[in-house]
Amino acid sequence: MAIATFVVSLVMSSLTFWAVNSIQQDAQINDTRFGRDLGLLLASNVAPLVAEDNLTEVARFSGRFFNSTSSVRYIIYANEEGQIFFGIPFSQNEVKNSLTIQRKLELPEDYNPKAKIPVVRQHFTPDGKVTDVFVPLSVDKQYLGVLAIGINPNPTVVASSNLTRDVTIAVFISIWAMVILGGVFNALTITQPIKELLLGVKNIAAGNFKQRIDLPLGGELGELILSFNDMAEILEKYEEQNIEELTAEKAKLETLVSTIADGAILLDSQLKLILVNPAARRMFNWENTHIIGEDLLEYLPLEVTQQLKTPLTNISHGQDSDEEKDSHDILPTRGEFTIALSNPNQRIFRILLTQVLDQNRENIKGIVMTVQDITKEAELNEAKSQFISNVSHELRTPLFNIKSFIETLFEYGEDLTETEKLEFLQTANNETDRLTRLVNDVLDLSRLESSRSYEFTPLDLGQPIEQTLRTYQLNAKDKNIKLFSEIATELPPIWGHYDLLLQVFTNLVGNALKFTLEGGSVTVKAYPVKANPENSEEFSHVRVEISDTGIGIAPEDQEAIFDRFFRVENRVHTLEGTGLGLSIVKNITEKHNSRIHLTSEVGVGTTFWFDLQIYSNGK
Ligand code: ADP
Repeated sequence: MAIATFVVSLVMSSLTFWAVNSIQQDAQINDTRFGRDLGLLLASNVAPLVAEDNLTEVARFSGRFFNSTSSVRYIIYANEEGQIFFGIPFSQNEVKNSLTIQRKLELPEDYNPKAKIPVVRQHFTPDGKVTDVFVPLSVDKQYLGVLAIGINPNPTVVASSNLTRDVTIAVFISIWAMVILGGVFNALTITQPIKELLLGVKNIAAGNFKQRIDLPLGGELGELILSFNDMAEILEKYEEQNIEELTAEKAKLETLVSTIADGAILLDSQLKLILVNPAARRMFNWENTHIIGEDLLEYLPLEVTQQLKTPLTNISHGQDSDEEKDSHDILPTRGEFTIALSNPNQRIFRILLTQVLDQNRENIKGIVMTVQDITKEAELNEAKSQFISNVSHELRTPLFNIKSFIETLFEYGEDLTETEKLEFLQTANNETDRLTRLVNDVLDLSRLESSRSYEFTPLDLGQPIEQTLRTYQLNAKDKNIKLFSEIATELPPIWGHYDLLLQVFTNLVGNALKFTLEGGSVTVKAYPVKANPENSEEFSHVRVEISDTGIGIAPEDQEAIFDRFFRVENRVHTLEGTGLGLSIVKNITEKHNSRIHLTSEVGVGTTFWFDLQIYSNGK
């Protein structure tokens, strides 16, 4: 705008100056013509007087001529040598003594005394441009001297051209003053608020919703600023609300992640750890290690690193680790691995890797790694298949025996003696008992593991103990094992279920006899105990102990024998059993709010013991 204004004002000023110049040139031509005519007129009148040397008349005539017009600036006469002999405006004295004036008139170079046309030139004085006219004075072709007459410029023209020039300069200056004022006004009222608005919008875009603009402006710009501030306020409130909701959601998720039993690990796309829940820390022994921000692969156990390195890298680069690539690209890529750790951990993990994608499901933000410790599950599965093979074996053996004895009886019954027949029937009967026992054990256990509730009554423990010992009396005699019972006198009644407790005694005494060699002994004890021997006076429980002088249980097996289907002899293959007896015992004692314990030494013997709550207060 400034440049345009400058150009326009320059063009306008040039035009005006050009016009003024033309006017001045016209005026000059007029002045020249007027001066020349005036000079010729004066010269024609004065020349005869100069020829007569009548200087008085010359002076008088010239004076009158000079006074009659304001256009004449001066009149000077010089002789043929150029010596000035008279001039106006000069004093009369000077005129009188003009002959004595020794000044010489400086003639223009192109002045020709013989030429009839006067020479005209111009010169500048402080009072304006003066037109000098040099007219030769001659009478009858005799050259007498020169008349120089100075003509003042036309005052009207001078005044009007000066006025035009002054007006042009004033217009030029006022245009620039207006441009400058306009610029300042513009800067204060438009540029500054727009700059502030721009800064504000940039800050909002950068997420600084506290941004406000404080400019007291009216009009449309003021409205724009008001709307901007309103928008920023709404955004700020919205952000606060969002942050609150997000924080609450985050806290919920963090609680969830930290309480789940599975390990949860969150990685960024560079496989650096972002989040590790307590379960994962426990599984990988990271409890006292600072691992957040570190490279996952440097901290995983060797076997896991070996198996996961490539899949993790592939998933972080967006490749499916599954061999069969998912045909639907919308699903996040993932991978599932089962990794067994060798000594000393000996754990089996199922690890699931899942890609985390951004909102548009385009870019990979990270990887979620869930870790399940499936050691127990794997062991259980192993034990189950072991059990199925055991049961099949256990079932097949008695079934085969029963079938073969009955077949023999059926086909060759007539050839057999009565004793042989009885023996065959006895064996078939025993095998049937064995089958029944196995089936019963499986049924008992599944019943106990279901959430069925049992009705408890006050019980005298002596009864089931005596019943058990009676049952095993013959068996013990056969094996030459002594059976003892040490039941405290006046044993208080306990709170329990008769049949279940009978089963506990049957299983424990049965095991004791099974794993005790000939000549050994099995003892069942029952006596009252105090829950806290130091503080309480009264007995709260009855302790039951079943001890034997048998083969004992190695320390590494002492925990596992209570698991379903676990049998030490699976390894040693000497004595028969289902591996369910102690699981049933464990379940029944737990139903009585108690726990089964054992102390054992290989080759010395084993004692199983548990406490049962004494019945009191009508319970
Ligand atoms: P089973 O029916 O095979 O005896 P149990 O669950 O009763 O199954 O016992 C599990 C395992 O515990 C047995 O196979 C045996 O190895 C061991 N066990 C149990 N009781 C004794 C004991 N009194 N002495 C030695 N070992 C025992």
